This record gives sequence, structure tokens and C-alpha cells, in this order.
Amino acid sequence: MSESWNSRTKLVHGGTRRSQYNEVSEAIYLTQGFVYDSAEQAEARFIETGDDEFIYARYGNPTVAMFEDRIAALEGAEDAFATASGMAAVNGALTSMLKAGDHVVSAKALFGSCLYILENILTRFGVEVTFVDGTDLDAWRAAVRPDTKAVFFESMSNPTLEVIDIRAVAEIAHAVGARVVVDNVFSTPVYSEAIAQGADVVIYSATKHIDGQGRVLGGVILGTKDFIRGTVEPYMKHTGGSLSPFNAWTLLKGLETISLRVNAQTESALALAEALEGHPALARTIYPGLPGHAQNGLIQTQLGGRGGTVLSLDLKGGKDAAFAFLNALRIPVISNNLGDAKSIATHPATTTHQRLSEEQRDELGITAGLVRFSVGLEDPQDLIADLRQALDGVLA
Ligand SMILES: *Cc1c(COP(=O)(O)O)cnc(C)c1O
Repeated sequence: MSESWNSRTKLVHGGTRRSQYNEVSEAIYLTQGFVYDSAEQAEARFIETGDDEFIYARYGNPTVAMFEDRIAALEGAEDAFATASGMAAVNGALTSMLKAGDHVVSAKALFGSCLYILENILTRFGVEVTFVDGTDLDAWRAAVRPDTKAVFFESMSNPTLEVIDIRAVAEIAHAVGARVVVDNVFSTPVYSEAIAQGADVVIYSATKHIDGQGRVLGGVILGTKDFIRGTVEPYMKHTGGSLSPFNAWTLLKGLETISLRVNAQTESALALAEALEGHPALARTIYPGLPGHAQNGLIQTQLGGRGGTVLSLDLKGGKDAAFAFLNALRIPVISNNLGDAKSIATHPATTTHQRLSEEQRDELGITAGLVRFSVGLEDPQDLIADLRQALDGVLA
């Protein structure tokens, strides 16, 4: 692979390793272990494992390595470690770098399981966590301390789509020597320039746009070679959160088409947001690509003007209206994944964010009328017509 290739070329050819058969499509090395030519070779490999040498699939596997190299090339990261799910990536990145007595500052608008790791798991092992409003730079400034080892945030939050200024938060964190860890799912690897903007560690749930077709779980941690091989790999290979070769192959194939899919889904999301904004059944249409969104300026500098593949609709009539709307949809499915070829609608207050107290939900803007809508690859005109009829039905 050439460093000078543009991302679409890297997505098709990056990381490819061919066997002696010279297959066109990447092989699935569905094997747990690897055979050594001699006892001496086995001994040598356990002392030092070369770049393209393998011992055991929990440590690494050729298909998994292809996926790691391809996503690292897209992200512009030195290295990557692939994990069994997005949550294995969040847990692996944070737990591998932190110890008792460390301090972490985190945005409070988080995916439920991320919040659980920060609020309920890390704190059990003596890590202190301070939560801030991620969009408030003064709050980040006030929260960081000399013993702050990491800051954590979702660059675009779920489900209220607040955008966090990676460059500004990185400047604040780096001033006290803290690592910047970004869960970048909603920004997608296609639009991300998180590392250039100051992130030290970037995490994706590959279950979302990277697969993009609802088949497998996966995740990835991206960062410097030192951090990935020196800190993350020892933790992951001994604790068992590695990605399976079959899932890695599915995700490799997902990467080949991710840029086409995410661009089409983002175009449709903007078309939908524009078409539905101001509908009388809606209190708010939340989409970062709309000029009226509070952080639309940040979208211009951070994501090249692209608002991503998800929008959230806040219905005036609360839970009853949201449920009536969901039940009237004909094309989208009701489910809680996102980034999929199929449009997916979900009611966060009663599903993904049900565990939160009503007070926490209020604070995060997760109202009873809020519906999160992940835009798929269907014809956007069909989606607009379907969402309109469902919204009209709520008023009838
Ligand atoms: C889905 C998601 C995760 C978790 O990923 P899994 O693959 O489901 O484990 C983490 N963070 C964000 C922002 C997500 O959307």
C-alpha cells in the first residue's frame, strides 16, 4: 500500500495479505493457532513475534491484521487493535492505560455502556471520574488537574447529536499531560480527522458503519504504535476481548464500501432533516448538518461540513406521539443499531437510555418525544414520504 493513496483506494487495498494462492478477495484465516516448523522457531516467536508472525488468535490473526491495517490507514493512525465489540474497545483503551489514583474527565452525554464503564467500573478500581458538559470548554478547563490521565468523550453524542470540539478539548487536556480518548462512532471513520485534530486514541464500534449491514459485532482502538503495542495489546491479548477472524473478514469487506455508503446516507440524512424541519408534529429536528444546529460551525471545521448519518426528531406529543410515529413507519425498522443499510428508528428514553434516571435524561435532552433515526441506503424520496405520512398521522 502507498501512503500517498487517497482514502478510497486505501479502503479497497489497504492491509491486504495474500497467501501462496494469490486470492483476489481476502482470505478468512479461521484458525485459533499457528504451526511452527521446529521447537526452536516456537521458542523464538514467543521471545519476539515479528510483524507478520502469529502465535494464537487471541494475540493476533492474519485476517484481523488486515482489518487493523486497513482501518489504521483510513484513520491516519500509526496502529490499531481490533476488538470483539465497540465496548471491548472502550474498556480496553481506558482500562489498559489507567490505574488506581488516576483522574479522568468525561463528557456526560454518553452511550449507556460507556457511561457504565466510567461511572460504575473504573471507579470500583480507584479511578476518579469527573463528568462535564462536553460542549462547555470552561467546564473542561475547570475539571482537568495535574493527575488527570485521560479525557473521554463521544465526538458527536448519542442521541442528541451534540458535537464536541476535539481540537479545543485536546489543547486543554494536553496542557496537563492527559491523553485524549475519542469515541468517534457518530462522526464515522469516513469523515474523521480526529488524530490530526489532537486525539491520541480513537475508538470505533465497527458494529455500526464499518459493518454497516447489521451482521457482526466488532470494534477497534487506534493510536500510536507505542500505545497500541505497548499498552493496549498486552491488556487485550491477556483479557480476551480480541476480534474473531470471521468478523474481521466481514468488517474488511465493510471497509471496501464504507465511503460510498456513509456519503449516500449522509446526503439522505440532510435531505430528510431539511424536508421534515418545521413539520407541525415536531418540537425540534436535530441534525448537525442543518445551519440552525448549535454546533453547525464546528461541523464545518471538524467534519468538512458533513452532519453524519443520524438525525433525531423530537415529537411534540411526548411518548404517545413518538410511539404512534414509530408504529406508523413502513420502511424503517424499529431497532437500536445504527449506521446500517436499513433505516432504523429507536426511542432512546424507553430503550437505549432507559437505565438513566428521569433527571439524567432531562439533563441530556432525552425527552419522551425523542426518536433517533439512523438513515439507511433506501431511496431518500421514499424515506421522506414515509416519515411525512407517519408524522401527519400523529396529528390526525
Ligand atoms: C454502539 C456504540 C458503542 C458500543 O459498540 P458495540 O459494538 O455495540 O459494543 C460505543 N459507543 C458508541 C457511541 C456507540 O454508538
